Amino acid sequence: MSNTMPSPSSSHVVIFPFMAQGHTLPLLDLSKALSHQQIKVTIITTPSNANSIAKYVTNHPDINLHEIPFPTIDGLPKGCENTSQLPSMEFLLPFLLATKELQKPFEQVLETMIKSNTPPLCVISDFFLGWSLASCQALGVPRLAFHGMGVLSMAISKSSWLHAPQIDSLSMFDPVDLPGMRLPFTLTKADLPAETVKSSNHDDPMSKFMGEAGEDDAKSWGIIVNSFKELEENHIPSFESFYMNGAKAWCLGPLFLYDEMEGLEKSINQSQISSMSTQWLDEQITPDSVIYVSFGTQAAVSDSQLDEVAFGLEESGFPFLWVVRSKSWSLPGGVEEKIKGRGLIVREWVDQRQILSHRATGGFLSHCGWNSVLESVAAGVPVLAWPMMAEQYLNAKLIVDRLGAGTSVKKVQNQGYQVLVSRQAISEGVKELMGGQKGRNARERAEALGRVARRAVQNGGSSHDTLCKLIDQLRRC
Ligand code: UDP
Ligand code: UDP
Repeated sequence: MSNTMPSPSSSHVVIFPFMAQGHTLPLLDLSKALSHQQIKVTIITTPSNANSIAKYVTNHPDINLHEIPFPTIDGLPKGCENTSQLPSMEFLLPFLLATKELQKPFEQVLETMIKSNTPPLCVISDFFLGWSLASCQALGVPRLAFHGMGVLSMAISKSSWLHAPQIDSLSMFDPVDLPGMRLPFTLTKADLPAETVKSSNHDDPMSKFMGEAGEDDAKSWGIIVNSFKELEENHIPSFESFYMNGAKAWCLGPLFLYDEMEGLEKSINQSQISSMSTQWLDEQITPDSVIYVSFGTQAAVSDSQLDEVAFGLEESGFPFLWVVRSKSWSLPGGVEEKIKGRGLIVREWVDQRQILSHRATGGFLSHCGWNSVLESVAAGVPVLAWPMMAEQYLNAKLIVDRLGAGTSVKKVQNQGYQVLVSRQAISEGVKELMGGQKGRNARERAEALGRVARRAVQNGGSSHDTLCKLIDQLRRC
């Protein structure tokens, strides 16, 4: 057999996403990108997640799903197989602990592959599934970790975890200095993900879980990053310095763009699926006139805060498309009349990328989840940043302060100090982004970054090259 011919087994990758939308979706996009490179993919997941995943990867015969049952454990409501189904974030810890019970069945899947002479090139598993490293090591398969964050925010999170005791002694709005890191903006303790600095000695159960996942992460073969070199190149070395064994950060993103590019080539004449949102956007004549509003799939926004958003959007005078997740909230009296024809409130899952790439969409009032930030930039849409939790404050700083592709909602109180953001602050923020000079500058920057993002995933682009190099290197492992 010629040694230049890859054996069938060397063209197979196992992907194990964490069961949260923001973590799973980019790995499904990666699965598609790999299948475009003639790599077969097995996605490991649990039965109820498999349903939605199957819909997302339909038309990709090289992507297979392998279901393993989700364990039932004390303290976790039955039937919760995705963080979006948790009654509140207090259930996150039992949920995370439950995923540890997936280790045995996961190992069985790998063992079967190995026994039938089709070992995967690697396992790509989420940061939260850190225990998968031990299984991979025992079976001789390289593990790549996936975080669903940007390079800079991952580096800052890792560093602040290590320096938690020093940071703990600071007051909330003191500037933080992270040894060995060149920060492109000033940072305060309030900007840091609460999980990394909450307990300086890391002894509460959540910190213990994160600590273990972090240790497994640091010993992995590599890291898959949903970002692109041109966006965060300066921070790659400091991020990689937290890893052992020379692990590399493989910047392959924006992962969702591969399929869009492929789709464009294949079905240039096929019109996109129309929805209530896109129909409404089609009716908005002026380009870049609509502000899209969404706070992602995790952040819990109180009903009184949603009231302020409604009044703020109404006061701003700009057309808006707003996705609301709360089941209990209803539009405050009197507002409905005032926004008739000017605002659309949607209460189901939307195709966010389709909305962002619509010509009528001109801004995104966002909680700054990494996926949303990346999707906005890739679509050339500036962000009106309203970070709420986790590393969203860091994403907001990157996009607004460093990259200039957005503006901020003023008077947002930082982590741990959440207070109601007033309708005035929201309305002024929308006006500045959609109608002011700052907004025009931000739109120009976002459009420029969008062009760079698209180039990155094309043949010869930085992310595309990195993907080819990664596959090559894994085949030589
Ligand atoms: N860059 C980076 N991280 C960032 C922003 C930029 O590594 O957060 C790098 C990136 O490689 C980019 C270069 O710095 O090409 C210049 O960045 P930018 O376009 O923002 O121009 P500058 O602000 O440095 O004038
Ligand atoms: N999303 C979507 N439709 C919705 C809500 C969310 O397509 O109605 C997608 C969005 O495009 C993004 C992901 O869900 O890819 C949310 O991830 P992000 O990191 O922005 O925020 P999180 O939900 O993790 O806080």
